[in-house]
Amino acid sequence: MRHSAPAEGKPAMPATATAPRFHGGGKITFENRPVPEPGPGQLLLRVAANAICGTDRGQYLDGSAVTPGHEAAGVVAAAGAGTAVLEGTRGVVFLMDYCGRCRSCRAGFTNLCLDKRADMGFTQDGGYGSYELVHESNFFPVPDDVGLTEATMLLDVMGTSGHAIARARLVRPDIESVYIAGAGPIGLGLLVMCKITLGAAVPVRISDVSPWRLEYARSFGAESVDARDPDALASMPEADVAFDSTGKQPARQAALSALGRRGVLVCAGHGETLQLSVSEDLIAPERAVLGSEYFAFDELPRNLGLLRDNRDLISRVITHTFDVRDIAEGFAVFLSGKSGKVIVTQGGGQ
Ligand SMILES: [Zn+2]
Ligand SMILES: [Zn+2]
Repeated sequence: MRHSAPAEGKPAMPATATAPRFHGGGKITFENRPVPEPGPGQLLLRVAANAICGTDRGQYLDGSAVTPGHEAAGVVAAAGAGTAVLEGTRGVVFLMDYCGRCRSCRAGFTNLCLDKRADMGFTQDGGYGSYELVHESNFFPVPDDVGLTEATMLLDVMGTSGHAIARARLVRPDIESVYIAGAGPIGLGLLVMCKITLGAAVPVRISDVSPWRLEYARSFGAESVDARDPDALASMPEADVAFDSTGKQPARQAALSALGRRGVLVCAGHGETLQLSVSEDLIAPERAVLGSEYFAFDELPRNLGLLRDNRDLISRVITHTFDVRDIAEGFAVFLSGKSGKVIVTQGGGQ
């Protein structure tokens, strides 16, 4: 009955709210969608911000049955039965609606849940709409001193990157040089997280085809390599660890070739293949090639601490903010190759 008779002192929840619909071919329109009521264990968030991700390109070009957006931050507007999080709590949404009971989840690998209920923004409505329904278990509260636009940095930018670095460290604890293929949002996230967690003195080389991105990466202390120049790629000094954020085979091959002995390649961008000569590439130099998928929910508290300690540096990853009404313009800027992270906000973003 909340649609018609709110409890005393509480604002009425609207019956419907606006959400963008992705039709494909870059066409986005707005429509009114019913505002869901949170069931047991669920929270209804009023979304404040959602960061645009390279992965959204698929839904932007092909269309989507659900509202996209998987890097959301918002405020709990209504809490379902059996939840402990209070209305008004601010926080971010973890992509995987993990089960919490399977072997992966029990061991802490919530990013690899064997029985997940949904991928937010892909199989269930995500964060570009006014409201998002989540389970309490994949909502991570943030304190009031962290803005919600800034809080989206806890997700792909810090989370995915921090996890990839942790994966590399499993094999290579003594990292003294890094190469990153791709200076888009994930590459920039890797750069920032390398500077924060490995120390500013560890040299980080980064490549891209976009001169704008390379110049922006240099402002974070990276050395840059023009990925359009095969000679420059081939003559890079050896790196202890290489990250591929591009998903492109030539970039992956160049990253593998850039490794020295005991080198580790971490593939953090989905996409194309990688060709390996097992003896030459892996056995003789004892190199490793690892995959890295998003991050585990338990990594969020540490990253929140890092965000609060390094907020000026991390906030600089955000180059543009657009109100959701201008989401099409936000995507155009994001896809131009002349941006860092682009954030789509609702109601002023806080
Ligand atoms: Zn993403
Ligand atoms: Zn699970």
